[in-house]
Amino acid sequence: MSATVAFIGLGHMGGPMAANLVKAGHRVLGFDLVPALLATAAATGVEPAGSAAEAAAGADAVVTMLPAGHHVLSLYREQGLLAAARPGTLFIDCSTIDVADAHAAHEAVVAAGHRALDAPVSGGVVGAEAATLTFMAGGGAEQFAAAEPLLGVMGEKAVHCGGPGAGQAAKICNNMILAISMIGVSEAFVLAESLGLDHQALFDVASTASGQCWALTVNCPVPGPVPASPANRDYLPGFAAPLMAKDLGLAANALRAAGVEAPLGLKAAEMYAAFAAAEGAGLDFSAIVRTLRPQNGSTA
Ligand code: NAD
Repeated sequence: MSATVAFIGLGHMGGPMAANLVKAGHRVLGFDLVPALLATAAATGVEPAGSAAEAAAGADAVVTMLPAGHHVLSLYREQGLLAAARPGTLFIDCSTIDVADAHAAHEAVVAAGHRALDAPVSGGVVGAEAATLTFMAGGGAEQFAAAEPLLGVMGEKAVHCGGPGAGQAAKICNNMILAISMIGVSEAFVLAESLGLDHQALFDVASTASGQCWALTVNCPVPGPVPASPANRDYLPGFAAPLMAKDLGLAANALRAAGVEAPLGLKAAEMYAAFAAAEGAGLDFSAIVRTLRPQNGSTA
């Protein structure tokens, strides 16, 4: 069934996601603070609105794809988005935000008489364009069921992770595993280099042994063993280091709030924050291997 969807935040991810909703026959009213992005979206069939609130008035669902929690909360609370929507409108926030902000967003939506779902994604810009994203959703079963037809158009998998905030929790827990495993794989390759062990030999053993993981077999941080990994194209992302740093910052906030120690998660957050602010700014997160080598021992 065709729906009227307000789509707020038409950037790298939101632009192609909104375009896929249009392709599937939905009416999409879009808004972004950047006029050029509104024009690009209009070329894909999105109807440009004069404001977020204008887009939301009359919509069945409001999808947000914004940089951080304060953008979502400010739109919801101060910029009239919730007040402009019809009672019972489904608010789906696909941005990656703090778990605490996701809870606050749910509360604000429900207090205004609407329905809320947090539904962050993995799959990156390529997944947004190809509609192959995975959604991790948090909220009630009814809200998830109502959102599923729209999520199904923008991605290929949607997992209902639990109540409010559970989608954001799943996203940061997964990325904390990924960051720690990438650093572990990278340290192992650096040790192999200094022991005179070939990259390929380590890969052949670890990829079929207990060291096997995505950071090794798909996104291998050294060139050679996995031809499609970013290491073979000068670490062009892929999953950019600043996005990993952002997600680990959210994980660190959640760790502190929950009183969980997680020394490796916090160390990974610290390492990626430093890397993303320096040489890693435009690189895939696997390029962290470069920072782990002894000063003169670089082989990649
Ligand atoms: P982006 O910066 O390209 O897009 C965000 C857009 O939101 C911008 O165009 C900005 O102008 C707009 N915006 C900000 N405040 C607004 C407001 N008040 N009203 C209307 N528009 C507003 O970011 P992105 O790469 O598309 O990422 C969006 C979200 O998705 C982030 O939370 C990010 O962490 C998450 N994410 C990104 C990727 C990725 O690969 N880029 C992957 C997974 C998740």
